[in-house]
Order: sequence, then C-alpha cells, then structure tokens
Amino acid sequence: MSKNENTGISGQLRKKTTELEVTRVLKSAKYWRLLVPVPVVMAFLMFGTGAFAQDLPTGPWKYGKIIGTYVHKFYGPGKKLPGNFTVASKSVVITATSLNVRNGPGTTYKVIATVKKGMVLKVLRQTTGWYNVVLPDGRNGWVAAGYVTVKNLNQPNPQVPKPETPGADLGTPTEKHGVVKSGIVNVRSGPGTTYPVAAKVTNGTRVRITRETAEWYKVTLPDGKEGWIAKYLVLVENQVPSRGDTPGTGNSGGDIPGEAGRLTEVRVESVGEQDIVTVNADATITYTVYVLAEPYRLVIDLNNMKKDDLPESFAGTGKWVQGVRLSQYSLEPLKARLVVDLARYLSYKVKYAEDKKSIRIEIQEPSINGKTIVIDPGHGGYDPGAIGVTGLREKDYNLDTALRVYNLLKELGANPIITRDTDTFIALTDRAAIANNAQADVFVSIHANSSENASLNGTSTYYYAPESDPVLYAQADARRKLAVKVQAQLAANLGIKDLGIKTANFSVLRNTGMPSILVESAFLSNKTEEALLKDSGFRDKVARAIVDGLVAYFTEP
Ligand SMILES: [Zn+2]
Repeated sequence: MSKNENTGISGQLRKKTTELEVTRVLKSAKYWRLLVPVPVVMAFLMFGTGAFAQDLPTGPWKYGKIIGTYVHKFYGPGKKLPGNFTVASKSVVITATSLNVRNGPGTTYKVIATVKKGMVLKVLRQTTGWYNVVLPDGRNGWVAAGYVTVKNLNQPNPQVPKPETPGADLGTPTEKHGVVKSGIVNVRSGPGTTYPVAAKVTNGTRVRITRETAEWYKVTLPDGKEGWIAKYLVLVENQVPSRGDTPGTGNSGGDIPGEAGRLTEVRVESVGEQDIVTVNADATITYTVYVLAEPYRLVIDLNNMKKDDLPESFAGTGKWVQGVRLSQYSLEPLKARLVVDLARYLSYKVKYAEDKKSIRIEIQEPSINGKTIVIDPGHGGYDPGAIGVTGLREKDYNLDTALRVYNLLKELGANPIITRDTDTFIALTDRAAIANNAQADVFVSIHANSSENASLNGTSTYYYAPESDPVLYAQADARRKLAVKVQAQLAANLGIKDLGIKTANFSVLRNTGMPSILVESAFLSNKTEEALLKDSGFRDKVARAIVDGLVAYFTEP
C-alpha cells in the first residue's frame, strides 16, 4: 500500500517520494490503465524521462490514463511504481482559537491570514506536519497539523445517530427565522448529508428554525414541511434581544470586549456611474457580504461593531441604491448588519480604506471590465492531450483558442491571465494555484474532447460543486451559472450538437476557489469536428462564444 502523503511542493515533481502499488494494468492501443487500490484522486506518475498527470475518476477502482509513447520504463502488475500523489475529498476543522495561515509549510513562512476555531477548510495537499488549505476568499495557505482535526467528507459522520423518526429530536430547541441564501438547497430528513433529501428550497425562501446542531438547522418550510438545512446555507434574520433580556449589553457597553468598535457614519451618495455606500467606524472593520435576490439586496455583517445611535435607515440615491437599513444584528457575538436595497441586479465591490476603519461599497452597472479571468489552455509540453483522427494535437488547439479568448478579453477591458502562452507542461494543481493566487473572479479551462466512439460529437461545458464539499457547494449557484451562460453561447454559435452542461470532479474545477468551468469545445475523435477544430474561423467562434458567455455571466442575473 502507500502512505497518504505528498511531499511535492507547488506541484514540483519529485522522484521516489512515495510508492504506489499497481494492482492491475489494462492496455489499449493508446493508453495504459493502472488500477491502484488506494483512494487517490490525482497521481503524478514518473516514467523514465516522461511524466503525465491525469485526473483519476472516482469509482470502485481508480485508474490513470497514461499515453503509451511516454511510457519508457514500466513497473509491471504487482510491482511498486514510483510516484507521488495528493489525497483529496478531505477537510480540516480548526481547533485552535486563532490559527496562522502561512504561505509555505513551516513557521518561517509569512503569515497570510488567520483562521478561527470551528472553521472548516478544504485540503489541497499535505506534507509532514502541515496542511495546504483553501481559505474562504479562495486563496490557499498552510496550517500546522497540530491545531486541526481531519474530517473526511466522503465518509458519513459516524456520530450522527439515526432514530426511528429521522432527525426528530436531534439538536437543541431554538426559535428564530432565516432566509435561504443559495440557489437550490436540499432539505434533508436529518442533520447530515447522509439523510435523504425531503424537499428543495430556493434563494430567498424564509424558514422557521426550530432546532439546531453544530452544523445544521431543523426548519419549517412555508408549506409546513419540516427538514434539516446546513447552517452555512441559511442567513439568520435580525434578532435583537430586548434591553431587559441581556443586562449590561445596552449602549453603556460595560461588558463588551475592549476591541469592540462603534460605527460613526453611514453615507450614501451617487458619484459618476457609481452609487457608493461608505461605512466609517472608530476601529478596524471586519465584514461578511451576502447577496440576496427578489428583491436584490446586499447584506453586510459588520463584526464586533456597535450600531450605537446611528439611524436605522438611510435614503437611497434614486439611482441604484433604493435605501439602506442598519441594525444591531446581535449582541453576542457583537454584530451590526447593513442591508443595501438595490434597484435590480447590479455589481458591487467592497473596498477598505488604508486604515481599515472605513469600507466603501461601490455599486454599479454590471460589467466584465476589470474582472480577473484566468484562461487555462489544457495540456501542453510532453502532454499533448487527445490526438485527432488526422493528427491535430489537443494542446495546440487549446493554446491557440485560449490566446484568442485572452485577446478578446483584453479588448473588453477585463484583466485576463493565461496559465501558459507557450507549449509547456503545467501541473493541474499549479493551474488552479495561479487562479487562487491571483484571486481571480472566474477560471476557464479550454479543451477538446475525445472518445473511442468516433461518431460522438458536440460541445459541452463542465462545472463542479458537489453537496459533499461545503466550500464548493457554497458557490454552486455561481459555478452552475458560469457553465450555463458559456454553454448557451457555444450551443447557439458553433453550429454543432449541444451536449449541455455537465458536472465532473476535474482537478482544475475542484481546486479553484472561484467559479470555474472546463469547456470541451468539440470532438477530436470525430472526423467532421476535427476539421472544424483545425479551422481558424471555428476557433474564433469558440473564443467569441466563451467571451460572450463570460459577459453574460458578469452582467446578467
Ligand atoms: Zn483535454
């Protein structure tokens, strides 16, 4: 067997760091398939002078696809194969009150963020004593293994009891209301993803909360049905205890911790094309923003802030901002809430002043202008990708088309970043890391499809946001929207079969912290479509369709 450890840093391939046992080998004309008895999702396999990284699909057996011409030396069935791999489908829960996140696996590396107790972070990879995790803002960094506990997302939580009536008397009673803050949310018969789905609710649905566990709420839906929803998908409504309920926490603020701040001003103004809401305080502001639909509004939670004697409502501008409401959302923990009511679907950006005691919420007509978009031409270098029926190499099609997308985006004033602009090999995790480090708005990987069945044809777009992965699932709406918008343009403009949007656990989709898609433009294994993929006019159509889809993603609801 093998150790679940990856000693490669930043995707560098290192020889003989771990050994991967091969159980069976399947050979076809083009590929070697290696069956390995461990739950790896991705493997870097070393073969003499060449290496090839390929996603391994989930299933009872895991296998990798290795292009035959690059296999120089092979360690046969039952023998050990040198390689190193990452373990996925795993998260860690922070157990320290406050924990530093560093830009490398060691205390000599720079601190780039701090995380709080109870936060659940997705693991990208690990090395001795350190985990590389995805932060809520999409960046990734390293946390010390001693201050976290591992949570395997693929295994049902063994602590969840299953009584006769599922979920009937689990958790503790409570009484509050909340609003569902994601597109389509599963309501389950018990507090865990192993319980069956009893109903589905949409963004903006108001629910009554009657019980809660550490991670789940038991809710009553508008139609009277009951079920459980993961807490991170529900925005709990304003709950201000009356003065008498919580002695000593009124305006006098006797027992509020010293670092608590006071809001000093909320200002709403129209400046040029933008409406700007400015919030000033006498201490550093930390905030969380949510967007709710029907009607569109921004909800900004200001942590550890007292509303003090500021008004509860502010007039709108008559342009984008209809009005602003301010409340003391809760006293423990201390939190103020600002709700900005919008005229319609609009784009927003929250910016800090230099001293972080002031934030500016800029609201404007949605646009692709200034958006950071990572374009990823698949494969490259010694990895040619699929080979067309008459020899077109996927890596060449991908690069040329991606460069066309890049140029169009530049013209539109976006900020495109391309993962490779030459014929070079880049590891899959590094492609995602480029986007995470750039804090990109979206990630688009460009590929061409291939099948053993030469008659298969058509265009499709993949995204990934499984319910089993809270970090990705929290973005499910945006991830799906990105796929829908781009696929709609591909289907309308390429003149080939519309295979629709699909989901797949591809490395670049799983490891990107922002909405991401993978476009399978057409089939290289189909004679007619390979001819199209060679054609400059068709490549332009693909590039324009992707860009039009991106514009739609950024400007339409
Ligand atoms: Zn490909």
